[in-house]
Amino acid sequence: MAEAKINEIFDSIQGEGLYIGCRQVFVRFCGCNLLCDYCDTDFQGGEVYSAQELAKKVSDFPLKAVHSVSLTGGEPLLQYEFLKEFLPLVDAKIYLETNGVLYRPLSEVVDLTDIVSMDIKLDSSAKIGDVFNSHKKFLEIVRAANKEVFAKIVFDDKIRDFEIGECAKLGETFEIPLILQPKMNGSEIDVKKEKILEVFDKFTLKYPNTRLIGQVHKFFDIK
Ligand code: SF4
Repeated sequence: MAEAKINEIFDSIQGEGLYIGCRQVFVRFCGCNLLCDYCDTDFQGGEVYSAQELAKKVSDFPLKAVHSVSLTGGEPLLQYEFLKEFLPLVDAKIYLETNGVLYRPLSEVVDLTDIVSMDIKLDSSAKIGDVFNSHKKFLEIVRAANKEVFAKIVFDDKIRDFEIGECAKLGETFEIPLILQPKMNGSEIDVKKEKILEVFDKFTLKYPNTRLIGQVHKFFDIK
């Protein structure tokens, strides 16, 4: 019987990306395979659940009133064996929030998801090296499974033209919306306004299906 450590389970609004403002039940998994410089997620601690226990806990929320159940973290795909047992027990749409690099685990569970919200990580802001190749393999799997997908890109003043070109290439190849998200420091935007507009201009000239969207839950001061 698979088990996973869950940091928290809560009912809130989606604060990022294409489904901003939608009500979701969030299941936050502990642990991550990356160590992004700007990470502000507290996913230590938490409780261990079996797939059945977690499904029961999730079903206690008003699932008819929510858009979907968001698997977030940390990195939920680290628990792909658990997800194989848990997801078939959930009577709601599944929205996977992922850093977009664990393509092998993804291939095990992608058919059990409905919407994939992935990151495209930039070394200039995350300081984890260039991982475009992993993102490409990840997107190949999402597309082969015919799942809805979009990619969030957290950037700051140091973004390189090379990175903009690679993101646009991924967007074009896989025909996905790109969501530009200025890096935050707490509830403050950590990128100069002129730089935000310059980056948005460069992106849209290369790849028009790009949107500039901040993190609204931080303005409301909710999770
Ligand atoms: S992928 Fe997300 S959770 Fe993991 S370290 Fe980066 S920002 Fe934090």
